[in-house]
Amino acid sequence: MGFAVVNGGVCKRPRGRSLCRLDGEKGTSNGTAVVVGGGPTGLGCAMVLAKQGWDDVIVAERLPGCGPQSSSREYTYALKKRTMRFAEVMGFDDQLRHEGVAIDRLLLEVIDKSPERKRVEINAYDKDGVLYMRRKKLLKVLTDQIKDHYYSSVSIMFETQCVVKKDESDKLVVELRNLEGDLVKTVLPKLILACDGVHSKVRTTFETTYPQSFGRKIRSSPSAGLLYKALRIKGEALNTSMHTSVILRGGSKPRERYLQVGLFPSHEEDTRRIGSIVLPEDNDLWKIDNCDECYEYFQEHFPRISVRDIIDLDDMKLFLSSTPGRFPHIQWSTGFHSVSENAAYVILGDAAHSTPPDIGEGVNCCMEDLHVLHDSLQRHRNDLAAALEDFEDARRSDVEALMRITGYAHPYLYNQNSLMKKLWTAELALRVVLNKILPIAFDQHIIFLINEYSYSEALRRDLRTKTRIYFLTVASLSGLLYYLNI
Ligand SMILES: Cc1cc2nc3c(=O)[nH]c(=O)nc-3n(C[C@H](O)[C@H](O)[C@H](O)COP(=O)(O)OP(=O)(O)OC[C@H]3O[C@@H](n4cnc5c(N)ncnc54)[C@H](O)[C@@H]3O)c2cc1C
Repeated sequence: MGFAVVNGGVCKRPRGRSLCRLDGEKGTSNGTAVVVGGGPTGLGCAMVLAKQGWDDVIVAERLPGCGPQSSSREYTYALKKRTMRFAEVMGFDDQLRHEGVAIDRLLLEVIDKSPERKRVEINAYDKDGVLYMRRKKLLKVLTDQIKDHYYSSVSIMFETQCVVKKDESDKLVVELRNLEGDLVKTVLPKLILACDGVHSKVRTTFETTYPQSFGRKIRSSPSAGLLYKALRIKGEALNTSMHTSVILRGGSKPRERYLQVGLFPSHEEDTRRIGSIVLPEDNDLWKIDNCDECYEYFQEHFPRISVRDIIDLDDMKLFLSSTPGRFPHIQWSTGFHSVSENAAYVILGDAAHSTPPDIGEGVNCCMEDLHVLHDSLQRHRNDLAAALEDFEDARRSDVEALMRITGYAHPYLYNQNSLMKKLWTAELALRVVLNKILPIAFDQHIIFLINEYSYSEALRRDLRTKTRIYFLTVASLSGLLYYLNI
């Protein structure tokens, strides 16, 4: 089956195409692989499988293509080293650099109620820089890669809902249905990959069918449950470079009720910048249902800006009509694969591990899954079971470490609790100073460590430094008490 972007139907290979092809070795047909979900993980996963010799890969995605996405899915990703390493292995790093905005120092402009704009220049968390890219651009780069290089092995079916269920002989089959719910095709694949995101239904089927292989752990986080929406803002109206990050900060008290809109760097030619609004569920903004009231609400919070000049009526309508996204709890699977007599089952990306986006690792961790999967499949070319075992062994400790890290690294970013945010800032400042004075004894703050080391090594170093700070504090206090003769 060849590449085609098809809505709600079976794909046929387009005729007469002569594109450069990187599909893997032929002649060793592995059978059919079905990838459920065409987000970044699903599309990247299809490329990995095709490169490793799978010649019949179906990606089923229920949405109609890479865009338009709903306003709650219009994130800007901060792509870091983990994503770039995977892109280099797969050969699309240049395309990412071309589509994204590369930043090595963050120029932050704060527009609040004071008459002067505040400008702060800070180091990007990753010393090699960060590439900012909208979700739909990332999806387009991945889809184009499949179209150009893996067209004879991969079929993408948009507007197709996947249902994984047991057939009469207790085997897991995949039903591909169009959006009306009509059955288009039933497939009995050799490999099913759940890449269907944080609310994965396929994961639930795997968990009930193979409870010995798949389990789930959930941990709460101070940012879980916050609601998120994207707001389009006219690029030129803010009078600032598109490469600058901007924070529009409202003036209301208490601080927990601040309205804050964060804008990530964007391309010069983008007419709209995407602002993120993250607020608790009980905030008044979520109750507003008409444009005039919404303009009034923003104007009240941002008195220094003419809100109607920066937000078009159509963009405001879009904002109001979309459903907010909800930050998930920290949750992860205790196992990532299972192999039965007839087939193998794998969970990847947000389906396997998801966190609130406090430290922007979501998509980077997903891309690292794919990198590790690629290497495992390559190492065990003719033994899928061994490859998946290898993948899970390599991945488990890092995923568990990231889940722990996300719980404490930066959860008060959204002003839910001003005291906790101040304590976080104080710890960051202390770590920067200690690391400058004695880097051999005190590692940097965890938000920097995750860009230098594997998640498990970053966690180990962070806990070690915390212990050292604890003993240093106890020793200093004891010394002081002794000196004061108390
Ligand atoms: C509110 C919110 C904000 C976020 N902001 C950021 C951020 O700023 N930076 C960052 O790095 N990460 C962010 N993340 C995390 C990031 O979006 C995810 O880590 C990343 O998108 C995971 O990719 P994925 O492909 O695994 O899952 P998804 O991107 O969720 O893709 C899953 C896909 O599967 C499809 N699907 C689901 N079920 C089916 C089915 N049965 N049949 C067919 N298709 C199906 C869905 O339509 C979807 O397209 C955010 C997450 C949330 C929830």
